[in-house]
Amino acid sequence: MLKVGNLEAKAGEHVFGYLETAASRSGLRPDVPVHLFAGAEDGPTLLVQGAIHGGEVIGSIAILNFIGNLDPKTMKGNVIAVPVVNRAGFELGDRGSRVDNKDISRLFPGKKDGSVSDQIAYVYYNEVIKQSNVMIDFHAGARTAYERYVLFGAEKDPDNLTDMEKKRRKLVVAFGLDQAAFFPPGTFGANKSKTAIEDAGAVQITLEFGGGTGWFKNGDDNVRDAERGIWNVMKAMGMVEGEMESDGPLCTVYNAGVVIWKPDVDGLFIRERKFRDELKTGDVYGKLVDPYTGELLAEMRTPKDGIVIPSGQEWPTVGATSIGILGTIDRVDDRRTMDLTLTFD
Ligand SMILES: [Zn+2]
Repeated sequence: MLKVGNLEAKAGEHVFGYLETAASRSGLRPDVPVHLFAGAEDGPTLLVQGAIHGGEVIGSIAILNFIGNLDPKTMKGNVIAVPVVNRAGFELGDRGSRVDNKDISRLFPGKKDGSVSDQIAYVYYNEVIKQSNVMIDFHAGARTAYERYVLFGAEKDPDNLTDMEKKRRKLVVAFGLDQAAFFPPGTFGANKSKTAIEDAGAVQITLEFGGGTGWFKNGDDNVRDAERGIWNVMKAMGMVEGEMESDGPLCTVYNAGVVIWKPDVDGLFIRERKFRDELKTGDVYGKLVDPYTGELLAEMRTPKDGIVIPSGQEWPTVGATSIGILGTIDRVDDRRTMDLTLTFD
């Protein structure tokens, strides 16, 4: 039996419904659409979620495809699948919610008596995240960037990993992409949500996958590889049988410590580097030009040596934003020699 808020699935069942979370002052209810799959046999619980940032939708497509192929009668454990967490943002293609201008992903464990997004975070945290052993959180570059890597939280002491960090290393590799990255502490400020999710006992990996201005970047091959990753994680968790499939035997893990920020001028961004290019301190990463005359407004140089990670803006030019991320190689994991199986009590 799998129970999430007002919804229940018995062993072998797939149930769809809306998790009641919150209401705005005028009564708008952005309840969260939830698919429950209760396996025929006991086992761990996998949460797979998309569009907690409303404009980042490749995960939503992959999750819908995954749901169509998942049979609870032939699996162990439970799957909670949420194609769109942030409906208010999704509706308008926004990252956050215009109801209260908040980003749900930053609000865990949430607040029972807070604004609409605080309440969604509170119910979702207590009903969904707390009973999940593993959480696959799909993000993307929304309309403005293309990305393709597994993102995970920095490890406190890489020579002395916690049980959760050991599991996470396996999941990062099991997902099947050839690149992964972590941000060293302080790169983008503290994120209390990550700690809350760890406290809940859920091992989280985040996908920064898809997005950008070209349909091909959200097309069949990327959607297929996103769904492939969900199946790989289920195989690692012992929920279904089968061989894992991947980009190849190796997964390069980057310490993504170099962020190139857009200067305080707006214009048309032209990136002059490709993914995997190696830059030395002071090398030009891209430039901003006047979109109407072509006049050079600013050059963006890397403040440190690094390799261009598959993440970067394509055209946004207004306001404060990170325009490129560089990293150094932390390690290269080899799928052929790693034990990727996970066990849960
Ligand atoms: Zn995101």
